[in-house]
Amino acid sequence: MKIIMLGAPGAGKGTQAKMIAEKYQIPHISTGDIFRANIKNGTQLGMEAKKYMDQGLLVPDELTVKILLDRVAQEDCKNGYVLDGFPRTIPQAEVLDKALAGLGEAIDYAINVDVPDENIVRRMSGRRACLSCGATYHVEHIPPRQEGVCDHCGQALVLRDDDKPETVQNRLKVYHEQTQPLIDFYTAKGVLRTVDGTVDMKDVFEAIVSILK
Ligand code: ADP
Ligand code: AMP
Repeated sequence: MKIIMLGAPGAGKGTQAKMIAEKYQIPHISTGDIFRANIKNGTQLGMEAKKYMDQGLLVPDELTVKILLDRVAQEDCKNGYVLDGFPRTIPQAEVLDKALAGLGEAIDYAINVDVPDENIVRRMSGRRACLSCGATYHVEHIPPRQEGVCDHCGQALVLRDDDKPETVQNRLKVYHEQTQPLIDFYTAKGVLRTVDGTVDMKDVFEAIVSILK
């Protein structure tokens, strides 16, 4: 099963993608996590990506597409995957579509997690991320057992640089201009499903599971 998560930054794509990956035993692939791991390790790619990420801009398609295509060609992806944060532009979606078509495959579901802009800034300022294992929390809604410490790996949690309110506004603008058109793209392919992302994360997940059945 090949699934794409769509939605504004902070809509809950990563939260749901992790739950989907666990239930259906498929890899969770987040281009944002891949970039953050590269930044942490000080790679050339990480340094290049950081310039854009810190401003709330998209990393150019030339850099992003190759990373994603290499990742989905790996052995663990042969039974499917859940993509979180890719595609984010129509050209990215077209490249993915072409690559899959060449293998006689296609995306099965594009799940649009719908959350209005008003809720997003609050979500993002409360998000705490573990840069070591990729786990995500929210200080009010989904707190870790011990404040500031990752439940999974015990590392310190951080407020991502790009979750600061000034950057979030920019990311929302970029989302509406460059990513939202993907809703029409996947609607036209007959694979788009929308869920209400404002309810409790367990209820969002239940709605997604009923779609994937
Ligand atoms: P995205 O991957 O779309 O950027 P995340 O999954 O990281 O979004 O979620 C953004 C923030 O909102 C995180 O702090 C997360 O813990 C929190 N969150 C996710 N889903 C919900 C929900 N249904 N209700 C409240 N908070 C949520
Ligand atoms: P995320 O973790 O999905 O919120 O992504 C964080 C940041 O990484 C985004 O704001 C972009 O700067 C960059 N990024 C992640 N995925 C992509 C993508 N598919 N295309 C371009 N930039 C991306």
